[in-house]
Amino acid sequence: MTTETHKETLGFQTEVKQLLDLMIHSLYSNKEIFLRELISNGSDAADKLRFEALSDEALYENDAELKIWINFDKDANTITIRDNGIGMSREEVIENIGTIAKSGTKEFFKSLTGDKAKDTQLIGQFGVGFYSSFIVADKVTLTTRRAGLEASHGVKWESNGDGEYSIETIERSQHGTEVTLHLRSGEDEFLSEYRLQNIVKKYSDHITLPIVMPKVTTDEEKDETTIEEEVVNAATALWARSKSEITEEEYTEFYKHVAHDFEAPLTRIHNKVEGKHEYTTLLFIPARAPFDLWDRNNRHGVKLYVRRIFIMDDDEKLLPPYLRFIRGVIDSNDLPLNISREILQHNKQIDAIRSGTVKKILSALEGLAKNEAEKYTTFWSQFGKVMKEGVIDDAGNKERIAKLLRFSTTYDDNPTQAISLEDYVGRMQEGQEQIYYITAENFAAVKNSPHLEIFRKKNIEVLLLAEQIDEWLGSHLTEFDGKKLQSVTKGELDLGSLENEEEKQQAEKASDVLKPLLEKVKTVLGEKVSDVRVTYRLTSSPACLVADSNAMDASLERLLKSSGQNFGGGNKPILEVNPQHPIVAALKEEEDENRFNDWALTLFDQALLSEGGQLDDPAMFVKRVNDMFVSMGNLSSSRIITFD
Ligand code: ADP
Ligand code: MG
Repeated sequence: MTTETHKETLGFQTEVKQLLDLMIHSLYSNKEIFLRELISNGSDAADKLRFEALSDEALYENDAELKIWINFDKDANTITIRDNGIGMSREEVIENIGTIAKSGTKEFFKSLTGDKAKDTQLIGQFGVGFYSSFIVADKVTLTTRRAGLEASHGVKWESNGDGEYSIETIERSQHGTEVTLHLRSGEDEFLSEYRLQNIVKKYSDHITLPIVMPKVTTDEEKDETTIEEEVVNAATALWARSKSEITEEEYTEFYKHVAHDFEAPLTRIHNKVEGKHEYTTLLFIPARAPFDLWDRNNRHGVKLYVRRIFIMDDDEKLLPPYLRFIRGVIDSNDLPLNISREILQHNKQIDAIRSGTVKKILSALEGLAKNEAEKYTTFWSQFGKVMKEGVIDDAGNKERIAKLLRFSTTYDDNPTQAISLEDYVGRMQEGQEQIYYITAENFAAVKNSPHLEIFRKKNIEVLLLAEQIDEWLGSHLTEFDGKKLQSVTKGELDLGSLENEEEKQQAEKASDVLKPLLEKVKTVLGEKVSDVRVTYRLTSSPACLVADSNAMDASLERLLKSSGQNFGGGNKPILEVNPQHPIVAALKEEEDENRFNDWALTLFDQALLSEGGQLDDPAMFVKRVNDMFVSMGNLSSSRIITFD
């Protein structure tokens, strides 16, 4: 026997076992969904075969009428779901059924709380698919053969869901997959034509493939029984029907199938476009971000159909990457059926469909923001970070996307991003010309940044940006509504006509008086800074760091540094000191050279720390501060407590 054909018993990935246990407990109250999941897989398998057969017709093996068959056997206590789709090779069975091939699995398991109610929600979000069989079955047998492989390359997989499965190579004449569920005792309610048909209608009516069940009729007189195939589902494309005929439940079930989601969507966009290009879109925004949202190769996206025939899955040509959270279908009336991925790359019609669809999605979001504020808040909390990529990715729609952005600001210091740029502009002060923002690594650091002192004092609103993507946003969104976006940590503070002449003059005067001090500090700091100057942006802190006006933002620089990128270096910050602060006054009076140096270095380190920056030598900083405390008289070395 070769390794290819021998029967082997393998252990599930640890996570699979855990997932099975959790799933059986949490989904038991909704156990009938196993059928929906298995039908959904059969339908996906048919789609895959159709797609591969576009370039290799032989894969159909003269069996191109794709269907899903459901049977049950009362005596054997089994339900069988069969399809003649793509099927699987031995390796594919091990990979797809024995492991969880989903990215984000680790994150998922980390997010489990042990609290049943919460975890049930989570498991729905993760999507359990094939494993839902084990809710009703204590043994599952799967046989399959990949289309195009020889009959001798069939595979039989079997497991009772207790941590192991067996796999062996078998003969299988038909391509496709058959799943047999050996029902647990007490689950015989499913051994009923009526019950099964109802479940199919409830969850899978929208599947475009015929789902058939045997219909047994007995002719009493002739004593003959005939078995016919009866199509149980509507088997029409849901999106092609008129909106008024589609129920909310039908939309939801369709969504769950295309999105592989267990929860209802947040909202949908169903449109028929007529004119030069004719196409229908039925798109959904999920209620929750999937675990693989950050994976730009995320696989369950938008499906392309041509005249109701499935063509392909989530080609990146269909929607730009920042809309990768959208799920659903686009069905074109004009594209050729034999379109390939290569053709898609340079197709004017596809380009038109894509830009039309993007516009539809943006206007749906605008509508949501305007009319269903609560839903928009949910949307933003789940997908806000991805939408921000749009400002960078989609130059043509930048203005529109910018209006959809939501921020935290100093207006309410609330970490929930709820303020639009239009809100901000509407509140701008008389004489304010720019939109001010600040970026840092986390919300506490932006909110408490010393750079904001003058803005708070003057009641000027500042956008608080604390997400990684914000650094890029800042460099791409340079203007909104004719107003420049200005980082408050960059360049000389320029408050335009909001500036108080008196304050300015005072600062200038202070500059003159403190000039020798500033130069001394600069000498001590040496390579750390490019300049030391007086500021009037601080009211309570002694010092802060700013970036040169044509250099990168300090926090952007840190970000690049931490991601190991070489940004050319040389962009040293400027230390700005507050002439009104007692520490600065003390520094001016300090005559001891060593102490002066300690003060100056500490001032710099403090400024760096308060921005969320990292010190090169934290221990040295601590030592300096402690030395300074001790030297403050009442902490002198003679005051050590003695214990003898
Ligand atoms: P999902 O459908 O979300 O990928 P499932 O757990 O339902 O997750 O299925 C896991 C994988 O197993 C599928 O992605 C597919 O590769 C494979 N699979 C399951 N059922 C079938 C089938 N009937 N035909 C072919 N492949 C299948
Ligand atoms: Mg599935």
